[in-house]
Amino acid sequence: MAGESATIGCSRCRNCGFEAPGGADEWQRIDVPKLGRMTQCPNCESTDVITQR
Ligand SMILES: [Zn+2]
Repeated sequence: MAGESATIGCSRCRNCGFEAPGGADEWQRIDVPKLGRMTQCPNCESTDVITQR
C-alpha cells in the first residue's frame, strides 16, 4: 500500500459497499442546501459515502 505515487482517494459507500475512485464519473453528485455538494452512491442512492486517502 505504501509507496504508491499519484494516489487517488478511493470513495466507498458505507451502505452497500460500492467503491470507485473519489471524483470518478461513477459517483452521482447532488446539491444539498445546507451541506453543499455531496457524493451519492449510484447503486443505492445513499449519501453515506466515505473517502479514504
Ligand atoms: Zn451504495
